[in-house]
Amino acid sequence: MKVLVLLGAPGAGKGTQADILARNLGLPRIATGDLFRSAVRAGTPLGVEAKAYMERGEFVPDEITVRMLLQRISAPDAARGVILDGFPRNRAQAEALEAALAARGAQVESALYIEVPEADLLQRLSGRWLCQAHGHTYHDTAYPPRSPGVCDVDGSPLAQRDDDRPEIVAARLRNQLGSLEEVVEFYRPKGLLRTVDGRRP
Ligand code: AMP
Repeated sequence: MKVLVLLGAPGAGKGTQADILARNLGLPRIATGDLFRSAVRAGTPLGVEAKAYMERGEFVPDEITVRMLLQRISAPDAARGVILDGFPRNRAQAEALEAALAARGAQVESALYIEVPEADLLQRLSGRWLCQAHGHTYHDTAYPPRSPGVCDVDGSPLAQRDDDRPEIVAARLRNQLGSLEEVVEFYRPKGLLRTVDGRRP
């Protein structure tokens, strides 16, 4: 099982790169944020529980997040491997993933850290648009869709995320940068970390 982890602050470009990797490697991209958003839309108990945290720009508790992720990577389409986008987000999640993979004789192959200066992140997040069907991402100026408001890949309508509003964006960054550092320092001593400059084209 090939497991690649994408690390980066909100707005660093994890989703964009995870999509490209997923297509090139023929592996599913699994984004915990997308799983939570579809649970919220579907109104499932998981969605109801996650919604309040997401609206505040806070992490959903590890217990819920880890359970959801482990269930998803046990699905048949994940048997050959996965591209993880947005998980692990802290040390406890990284340890839970390591233990679950070890139980099936697997391990994270590489943790790709997309590094972007904090000042650039606020600007990126506020211009961001996502396709409603699969979460393909666009940006007003940096990466506009070919036709305004429509996804290039699947033609579905684009919308802005509720938590990309400026007042929430600042809280998300504050809450997430410290734990991102924890995860980076979890993978670095294992020799699995590869840092990429996220400002490059
Ligand atoms: P994202 O799309 O990755 O920015 O995630 C959107 C929101 O979902 C985050 O702000 C969190 O509230 C929640 N979330 C996504 N992934 C995780 C995770 N690994 N741990 C805890 N909360 C998460």
